[in-house]
Amino acid sequence: MTSQARSAAARTASPATSAVTGTASAAAQRREQAVRAAVEQGLAGPDVPIVALLDTTGIRTSAAALRDAFAAVTDAPVLHAFAVKACPLVPVLRLLHAEGLGAEVASPGELALATAAGVPPADTVLDSPAKTPAELREALALGIAVNADNPQELSRLDALVGSARPSSPVGLRVNPQLGAGSIEALSTATATSKFGVALLDEGAREWVVRAYAERPWLTRAHTHSGSQGVALPLMAQGVRAVYELAEEINAAAGRRQVDTLDIGGGLPVNFASDEETPTYAAYAQLLKDEVPGLFDGRYALVTEFGRSLLAKHGTVLARVEYAKTSGGRPIAVTHAGVQIAARTVYAPASWPLRIEAYDAKGRPKTGPAVAQDIAGPACFAGDLLAENRPLPLLDQGDYAGVLDTGAYYFAHHYSYNSLARPGIYGFTGDAEGVRFATVRTPQPISDLVAEAGGGHADALLADGA
Ligand SMILES: *Cc1c(COP(=O)(O)O)cnc(C)c1O
Repeated sequence: MTSQARSAAARTASPATSAVTGTASAAAQRREQAVRAAVEQGLAGPDVPIVALLDTTGIRTSAAALRDAFAAVTDAPVLHAFAVKACPLVPVLRLLHAEGLGAEVASPGELALATAAGVPPADTVLDSPAKTPAELREALALGIAVNADNPQELSRLDALVGSARPSSPVGLRVNPQLGAGSIEALSTATATSKFGVALLDEGAREWVVRAYAERPWLTRAHTHSGSQGVALPLMAQGVRAVYELAEEINAAAGRRQVDTLDIGGGLPVNFASDEETPTYAAYAQLLKDEVPGLFDGRYALVTEFGRSLLAKHGTVLARVEYAKTSGGRPIAVTHAGVQIAARTVYAPASWPLRIEAYDAKGRPKTGPAVAQDIAGPACFAGDLLAENRPLPLLDQGDYAGVLDTGAYYFAHHYSYNSLARPGIYGFTGDAEGVRFATVRTPQPISDLVAEAGGGHADALLADGA
């Protein structure tokens, strides 16, 4: 749809949907202006054939929507810890922190990014199924909240904590074993998931209640029931399971030992249009309906949303290097492929992405829709972002816009064919025009060589000769 068609649709929409449609068309308009400006300002062009853009306004809007959704249903303190995994970029973490969010980290690297962004330990939560003793020691020394994954990790924590009370809040991750969503690889609450203590296994629940009884410092309970592909009712069931567990632990303890519930992230994202659905408000309301006790103020809350905060706000702009046909099929060979969209390339049925056609000046292309392949630059046949996609026919020098790539895409570079990481720019705009801020500079080739052992070129020759 062109932007004119989109705003026409917005004008004719019913009052109930026009607010949502209006937000969506505003986002589409900002994107369109940014693409045009990126080409005009030379962020993309013949010598810079791929660039990634982040809609700063959109990110702020999503962060505010998250805060407001929970503030509308509870007075309890809520830490919204952004799942760094979803968009591991320091300026993004700092922007979100400025919007009142913390960070959920799952590796020493992610913790370092959150620290570099200025997220304080009190707003940081460490999850991960494979924390080393050194990571646990550091987290406890810094006062970062830790969610233990399993009995062995809890034993390690016992040894580190000793007889003192840790300065970090410590919780236990449980798996309510609810079953899978539509994407098996992202379903964390299956019967045999690798995450957390499987609550329905024989004797597990009793073990968990005892584990809390024996450790007065265990004050949190955590679950994260899945990401993209898990429907809201299943997510709410997972939250209810951890809530009921906390109630049981506290009843057994005769005091409010568990004082904080960490309900994870996982709000699914709509990859089919600009509409942001489901909303945080809908999820918060569903939780209030399904787990009323969650919000009555007895528990502080932690959330860990990732994809839903960033996905809609990222766009990759890739130049069409060549347009050709093969077996009668038009193919646009672009510079966006597996290196910025590994999931889509390897699992296209689970991860379809919207693509927009722009001309050489970055203006939306018009013309009849022609089924064509949008191919990437990598040297394997499956490196396609879309197959047989009806779009205005892309020509040499045009651009393909790969939408909804703000989370788990261009910030998750896959170094196939030693393709360099593209530059990332945040954009804001007003009547004066579009302004870009550098989030990440394009990776220089010398960097690639260094990463590839360039400093050890002789290492495998006899005697280094
Ligand atoms: C990945 C992950 C998240 C974020 O999931 P999204 O689907 O990006 O919201 C939150 N918590 C944990 C423990 C995770 O592993």
